[in-house]
Amino acid sequence: MLWQNLREEEFYGAIEECGKVCVIPVGCIEMHGQHLPVGTDTMTCQYIAEKAAEIEPVMVAPAIWYADVQGLNQWKGTISFSIDLILKMLTELCAEIARNGFKKIILLNGHGGNISVLNTFVRSTMKDKKDYVVCCRNDFCYTHKDIVHDLNKGEVFPELTPEDIAYLRDFVDRAGQTGHGGLNETSIIMRTNPETVRLDRCDAVEGESNHKADYLYNVGFKGCTRFWAINQPNSYHGTAPYGANDRIGEVILKKRIAAQVEACRALKKDDQVLEWNEEWNRSW
Ligand SMILES: [Zn+2]
Repeated sequence: MLWQNLREEEFYGAIEECGKVCVIPVGCIEMHGQHLPVGTDTMTCQYIAEKAAEIEPVMVAPAIWYADVQGLNQWKGTISFSIDLILKMLTELCAEIARNGFKKIILLNGHGGNISVLNTFVRSTMKDKKDYVVCCRNDFCYTHKDIVHDLNKGEVFPELTPEDIAYLRDFVDRAGQTGHGGLNETSIIMRTNPETVRLDRCDAVEGESNHKADYLYNVGFKGCTRFWAINQPNSYHGTAPYGANDRIGEVILKKRIAAQVEACRALKKDDQVLEWNEEWNRSW
């Protein structure tokens, strides 16, 4: 169910059918090499949220396209909001969704750089004694490595050709990189928005890490994205994904949609989280 498509009188039944669960896809607008659109992260989490909601009915709110993105302002197309604004936007948006009758809100995150701010936001809702629960999960929970892992376990992927499988195995064997704009995202957007992809431009800028900041990661500053743009100055982290295609994208999306369905089901039937929330609110 898509929030923006409903008429007013349809909301009453929809809120109940959704088990008062509403999903907000949260992406960003940032460069993904020269071969993928700047909206890649939002397109992906929006697609997963919408497809999952067709299987397990939950409400999907209009996506948040704007986020904090890591520097690299020399590249065109990036739109970066301040942390303060993002927190305020999320606070007011979730309050409005809750005022309409939803009690369980899932932030489906499509952008690695959002992890910190979304966790901060979720914790802020605990301090403010809300009568609703906000949870966050990342859409990037299944990758090319998982496909190879599952193939090794005997899983069959009818979507993939023998050439695709050979390519994926080779990519893993030679430790191909895929952090941002790489094989996974390229395959996904070739499935969801093929008209926006220019695979012939996947090596227009360097995507391999230059490892300049590795010495900082190696002493424990790993979870910190402060140095990401040092290692990846082209807003692209990936071994040029010449073998990316929509079939690989289909498999990755199928698994990520299934994971989102599972998460929605778990939260939908679970009123314990609301009771815990009330207890939490009463405890201080
Ligand atoms: Zn991305």
